[in-house]
Amino acid sequence: MDFAPSKEQEMVRNAVRAFAEDVIGPSVAERDETEVYPSELVEQMADLDLFGLTTPLEYGGAGSDTVSYAIAIEELSRVDASVGVSLAVHNSVATYPILYHGDEEQKHKWLPQLSSGERIGAFCLSEAQAGSDAAGVETTGVKDGDEWIINGSKLWATNGGCAGMYIVIAVTDKSLKKGKGLSAFIVEREREGVSLGMKEKKLGIRSSDTYEIVYDEVRVPEENFLGAPGKGLAISLGTLDGGRIGIGAQAVGIAQAALEESVAYANEREQFGRPIGTLQPIQWKLADMATDVAASRLLVYQAANLKDKGVPFTKEAAIAKLFSSEAAIRVVHNGLQIHGGFGYTKDYPIERLYRDARVTTIYEGTSEVQRLVIARQIGL
Ligand SMILES: Cc1cc2nc3c(=O)[nH]c(=O)nc-3n(C[C@H](O)[C@H](O)[C@H](O)COP(=O)(O)OP(=O)(O)OC[C@H]3O[C@@H](n4cnc5c(N)ncnc54)[C@H](O)[C@@H]3O)c2cc1C
Repeated sequence: MDFAPSKEQEMVRNAVRAFAEDVIGPSVAERDETEVYPSELVEQMADLDLFGLTTPLEYGGAGSDTVSYAIAIEELSRVDASVGVSLAVHNSVATYPILYHGDEEQKHKWLPQLSSGERIGAFCLSEAQAGSDAAGVETTGVKDGDEWIINGSKLWATNGGCAGMYIVIAVTDKSLKKGKGLSAFIVEREREGVSLGMKEKKLGIRSSDTYEIVYDEVRVPEENFLGAPGKGLAISLGTLDGGRIGIGAQAVGIAQAALEESVAYANEREQFGRPIGTLQPIQWKLADMATDVAASRLLVYQAANLKDKGVPFTKEAAIAKLFSSEAAIRVVHNGLQIHGGFGYTKDYPIERLYRDARVTTIYEGTSEVQRLVIARQIGL
């Protein structure tokens, strides 16, 4: 591993860090409490190009590389993991399907709207019976003249409530083997028959907007059909490879915040007449936490760098996501322990970080699924 961020990539870090600390940070605890998506920040986030980070300039994006994207998601998540995941999902799994599988007309139509934040994007793959088993999707897309009719219910759509556009994976050919007859669609929020189902009440990342989305006889024109017929699963899995870099980066950001909070607390909190940070058991915990954060960061940047080089990165993205999410959980666990009883209350940010970290081993493929992906990649 010989990768270190460039000067330009570090400039992205500085800009996003300043924005996150100054603008997002002051209201993070309030949003965690109220579970409200920060729509009032959309314009400012758009000014910083946060909605089109890796989208090429010709489609209205910032044209940044994936390492810069990872750094941006890390810095946002260091301050607010809900904002971090919202932008990670928008930039990756909601944008990549159009960027990598759309035709020129679709790219010119949709990417500028996504990059400007005019439409926030969501990715609708999961269903009640199709979680890890993504091929088990039951939502249908049936051709009717030059339109498609979509019926089904999608669970867990991050950005579901604030989105103006959904990428929807549906069965378009039931005669084929499981997973072979899936296709992808672009569905506008305002289409008749699209409605919001229940909003999830979550343990963490509470101001990210997670909804069930119901599609009831939703008609979309042929021009909203994305990629080749029957490629819906391949589009989803390829998209998730890139998405995992974002979730890995989110985990790094949460863990970095927990480390900083814990070092500060260890230096400030006195017991037995001295700061607890002078005690070896506390120092060892903090050293382990710093090691976990550093290793996670390298793995995430490595996967991002491979993606930028245009070489296969499926294994590295799964490794980065697996390691950094499990490391983040170790880090927040140790961090809360260092805070003692105060860590168990809302008086310190470690309580929120502890809750926010938990989901990173679940979405965009659980840790078990990452291990399956890695096992396949190493020849099993
Ligand atoms: C907050 C949040 C946001 C989300 N956002 C989105 C989104 O924007 N779009 C979207 O499409 N989905 C989204 N998801 C869904 C998420 O991707 C799924 O929750 C995840 O893929 C796991 O599916 P499941 O919850 O149905 O669990 P299940 O698949 O039922 O798994 C339950 C347990 O069984 C294990 N398991 C399952 N199969 C295997 C196997 N073959 N081998 C070993 N272990 C296995 C799992 O690892 C897990 O531990 C989101 C989820 C959450 C919680």
